[in-house]
Amino acid sequence: GEASFVTVAEPNDKLLGGLLSHDFDEQSCLSRYQSILYRNPSHHILSSYLISKLRKYEALHKKCGPGTPLFRKSLEQLKHNHSAELECNYALWTPNGGLGNRMLSIASVFLYALLNNKVLLIHETDDLVDIFCEPFPGTSWVIPKDFPIKDLQNFHRGNQQSYGEMLGKHSISNNATIPMESLPPFVYAHLRYDYTHLDRLFYCSDDQSVLRKVNWVLIRTDNYFVPALFMIPEYEDELRRMFPNGETVFHHLGRYLFHPSNTVWGMIIRYHESYLAKAKERVGVQIRIFSWAPIPSDGLFDQIIRCAQDKNILPAINPKETESPSLEEPTESKAILVASLHYEYYEKMKKMYYEHSTVTGETVGVYQPTHEGQQQTEKQSHNQKALAEIWLLSFSDVLITTAASTFGYVSSDLAGLKPWVLSAPENRKAPDIACRRAFTLEPCFHSPPNFDCRAKRNADTGNLVRHVTHCVDWKKGVTLI
Ligand code: GDP
Repeated sequence: GEASFVTVAEPNDKLLGGLLSHDFDEQSCLSRYQSILYRNPSHHILSSYLISKLRKYEALHKKCGPGTPLFRKSLEQLKHNHSAELECNYALWTPNGGLGNRMLSIASVFLYALLNNKVLLIHETDDLVDIFCEPFPGTSWVIPKDFPIKDLQNFHRGNQQSYGEMLGKHSISNNATIPMESLPPFVYAHLRYDYTHLDRLFYCSDDQSVLRKVNWVLIRTDNYFVPALFMIPEYEDELRRMFPNGETVFHHLGRYLFHPSNTVWGMIIRYHESYLAKAKERVGVQIRIFSWAPIPSDGLFDQIIRCAQDKNILPAINPKETESPSLEEPTESKAILVASLHYEYYEKMKKMYYEHSTVTGETVGVYQPTHEGQQQTEKQSHNQKALAEIWLLSFSDVLITTAASTFGYVSSDLAGLKPWVLSAPENRKAPDIACRRAFTLEPCFHSPPNFDCRAKRNADTGNLVRHVTHCVDWKKGVTLI
């Protein structure tokens, strides 16, 4: 039948046009139904097919989730040396990288699970406790503490149970017609940036057919591999029905899956209400410095200001102070939320708008919730703050983000905004073009397989199909358009 669509432009539609289930206790996770009160409404088409797919998935998850008889049955299968015809099969996610990377990879594994009729479970390390709410009603996505496979965080490239290794040793075949009983009950898919030429076969049709029959697939990746799923012919129809506009996959799945815990929500709301809520316009500036792209802070600060003023995001300052402008309204015109591990950008920006008036007469407030100094992903409280800042950024009206930062991707995509992306430094200097508008909402898949599955040879993933092309901010990567 004809697909029908809804858009979520209604400001008080707390279920986001049916994207969210109403089967939750609101108090247990306030952010789920309250984020809409703070975020700009999404104007991106949501298909009713995706909605029905999610409701069916929720029923499957409830039936197969931890603690159910069917879950125990599938666990039992791990004691055997082969897979079996079971009602419940699982895609198990284990963390890698920072919070942005983790959110992108969870969304990717979830889409993989949706397409393969598997159930998404996560390995919740201590640093992930009390960060997110449960995404599926009446069940849990967290594997129990007594899960029989231990040390999930130790699975790595070249592990004996990794798909690539097994293919190399011929202990598994990627013949799509292989019977279930010839496959192990558990396979590890290593899909991190350092995956091997055999691991990457995960993204081929035949290999997908094989892994579909495996009862338990463990996935570790730091990547947003959704574009690769869009290149697998078997998934094409289904994906087109779920996402008639391919550009909105993470936007919808992210808003569906991720809801800050009440602890994190408290931080978000306290900060937002205290510093940002009253402004007429909120501008988010996300500043990330990568070791592979160093730049002195003065150079980067100039670049940010150049971007903000060229693109009319922030007002210029009066070079000489003559008289104070008379403000028609005493309220703050613009609030800038700076998110960064570092302090100096906030300090310089605040000083700039404190010591000078603006040419437009607007007042500009500058705020930064934390400056943690460095990434500390193994620390729970650090991750809570990181998520709070991702959320605060997602309440912005305009965003400036850092090239190739997954933290930035998640913030802008949840906001539903195409951000202004700061060009990566070259030779420790800001390029002439300070920033560019992103041309897609979608995150970049940084480590594509670069393999043509049909021709069985290396190929540029960005050149194989029309709707997957190279990213602007990370040339080696690919993105959906
Ligand atoms: P990416 O490295 O930029 O792709 O983003 P990730 O989120 O994967 O990893 C960076 C991590 O560093 C974050 O998860 C945070 O732990 C920390 N971090 C980076 N930038 C910020 C920031 O602006 N605010 C906070 N609170 N933490 C940050």
